[in-house]
Amino acid sequence: MRYSAWSAFDFLPIGVCLATGAGTIRYGNPALEDLLGNHAAGLAGRTLRDLGLEGNVDARTEDRRAASLRAARTADGARRWVAVAESAWTGGLADDEVLRLLTVTDAGGVRAEAPPFVNGPAWRSGEASVVAAMMAATPVPLFVKDAVGRYIAVNDAFERFTGIDRDEMMTRDSFAVAGPGDAEQHCGQDQMVMDRAVTGWQAGGGTEGVHYEAAVRTAEGAPRMVCLTKAAFLDAAGNPAGIVGAIHELADIRPQEERLEAILEQSPIGVSVSRREDGRIIFVNSRFSDLIGLPRERLVGSCARDYYLDSHQRQRVVERLRDGGGVTNMEVQFKRADGSPFWALFTVNQAVIQGVPVNLAWIYDYTERRGMEEALRDMASRDPLTGIFNRRSFMDMARAQLARAHRFHEPLSVFVLDVDHFKRINDTFGHASGDDALRMVAAGCQAILREYDILGRLGGEEFVVVLPGATADESRVVAERVRRHLARMQIETADGSFRLTASIGIAGLEGATDTLERAIHRADLALYRAKHMGRNRVAVYEPGL
Ligand code: GH3
Ligand code: MG
Ligand code: MG
Repeated sequence: MRYSAWSAFDFLPIGVCLATGAGTIRYGNPALEDLLGNHAAGLAGRTLRDLGLEGNVDARTEDRRAASLRAARTADGARRWVAVAESAWTGGLADDEVLRLLTVTDAGGVRAEAPPFVNGPAWRSGEASVVAAMMAATPVPLFVKDAVGRYIAVNDAFERFTGIDRDEMMTRDSFAVAGPGDAEQHCGQDQMVMDRAVTGWQAGGGTEGVHYEAAVRTAEGAPRMVCLTKAAFLDAAGNPAGIVGAIHELADIRPQEERLEAILEQSPIGVSVSRREDGRIIFVNSRFSDLIGLPRERLVGSCARDYYLDSHQRQRVVERLRDGGGVTNMEVQFKRADGSPFWALFTVNQAVIQGVPVNLAWIYDYTERRGMEEALRDMASRDPLTGIFNRRSFMDMARAQLARAHRFHEPLSVFVLDVDHFKRINDTFGHASGDDALRMVAAGCQAILREYDILGRLGGEEFVVVLPGATADESRVVAERVRRHLARMQIETADGSFRLTASIGIAGLEGATDTLERAIHRADLALYRAKHMGRNRVAVYEPGL
C-alpha cells in the first residue's frame, strides 16, 4: 500500500477518503475522522455503507459527479449530514486498481436551513438539496438573503471566513454584521441585482449578476478588501425572492502568490526564506543565487548559516532572532561558493508563511559601495601629492601611539625631516620636478622605515615620523639611514638629473605627561640645529638647546 502518496491528504481541512470499488475504505484523513468522530479502530477497513457515505452510482462509470448529500454515521451512532463529491482515483498507484476518492464536508447547517429554498415556488425540494450540498462542498464563502435582505443560508466557508456562527447570521441583515456605510452599499447592490433580474425576466432573458469590491470584517478581526459577486433569484411570478452572494477573494490568493514570487524574482536584492525549525532554506530568488554563486537547486535545502563568513556576526544575528527580534541593515560578510567574501547589508525578520515559521532574509550586496567608502576615507586621510598620511591623520595616529607608549611605559621618539635648499630645486628644475622630488623623498623614507613607524607630511618639504618603541638614540640610527638613502637618490627631470639632501631633528618622549606637540617642537629645535651645523645631517634634541 502506498500510504506515502496519500499522506498529502493528511493536511487538507476537508474530509478525504479513498475506498475500493466495492466500498472498503483504504484511507481516511484526519479531517474526516474529526467529522465522523474518532472511530476506535480508525477508518481503514470499514465500508462506506457502514459509515453512511455510500452513494448509489458507481464512481468508476461516472467520473467527477456533483456533490450529493448523505447522512453519515458518526462514532457515537448519531447521524450527520455531509456533502460528498466522488471521483475515480488512479494517481500514483503501482497496480492498475482504480480507487474511489471521496471528499466529505459538513452540510448539517445547510440542511437545517434548506426550508427557505423549499418554500420558494422556484425551488423544488430535490433541487434545494443539491444546492445545499453544493454550498457545503465549495470552499468559497457563500450566502443567501431573502427579498428583504435577511440572511437565510450561509455555508461552512462563510462561517470560517467571517468567524460568525451560522445560527447567529440567520434572519439578520447586513446592518447587523457590517458598519452602516458598508451595509448600505451591500443592500444597494442587492436591490440593483434584484431589479436587473426582474427586467431580465420580463425581457425573457437570464438574470445578470453584480460584481463589486468592499471591505469585509474577517475571522481575524481586521477588515479586508474582497470581491463580492451577487445574483438574484425570483419566484414563479417573477418577483424578487432574494440574492445569492459569493465572497471570492480566496480564489485570488494563488495568483497573488505567483505575483509575489514574480516580484521577488525581479528584485535586485537577494531574498531567502529559511525554516526557523532547522535553518534550512526553502526559497531563494535568482539574485540570491547569483550572489552566492550556486544554482537554486543547491541552495534550497542547504543551511542558511553556512553562508556567513564570520562566526561572530552569525552569532549576533542568531541571538537577535532567538530573542524574537530581527536585524535591519546590518553589515555582514558572506562567502560565495568559491570561498570569496562579500559585504552585504543584511535584514532578517521572522514571519509565518503558509503556517510555517520562517526567517525572511534580504541581502543587498554592499562590496562595491563599501570599497568606495574605504577609498573616500582613505582620500581624506592621505596627502594627495605623496600618498602618505596628511598632517591631521598623522597627528591622530601618532597621538594613539603616544598614549600607548605612556600606558605601557615604552619608549617612543619623533623625527622631523626638512629637505635642504628646496627653494633652489624649485627654482632650477621647476615646480613639477620639485613635486617629483617630494614624492621620491616620501617613498625613500618609507623604504627605510619599519612597518609600524608612521610617516606623515607636515607641509611643504617637511616630513615627520613617529617611531614607537624606539629611544632617541635608536631613532638616530634609523634617521641616519634615511638621510644616507635620500642623499644617494638620483632624481630625473627633463632638464637632467639631480640629487638632494635633507636634515633631520630627533626628540624622544620625556616623562609621563609629555605630549606629541611638545615632542615635535623639540624635534624642530634639533632640526634647526642640524641646519645650522651645515645641513645634510641628523641632530638629537638635548635640553638647553
Ligand atoms: P632650508 O634648507 O633652510 O630648508 O631651505 P629651503 O629652501 O628648503 O627653505 P624653505 O623651507 O623656506 O623652503 C621650502 C620651499 O618649498 C618653499 C616652497 O616654495 C616649496 N614648497 C612647499 N610646498 C611645495 C610643494 O608642494 N611642491 C613644491 N614643488 N614646492 C613646495
Ligand atoms: Mg627646506
Ligand atoms: Mg622647510
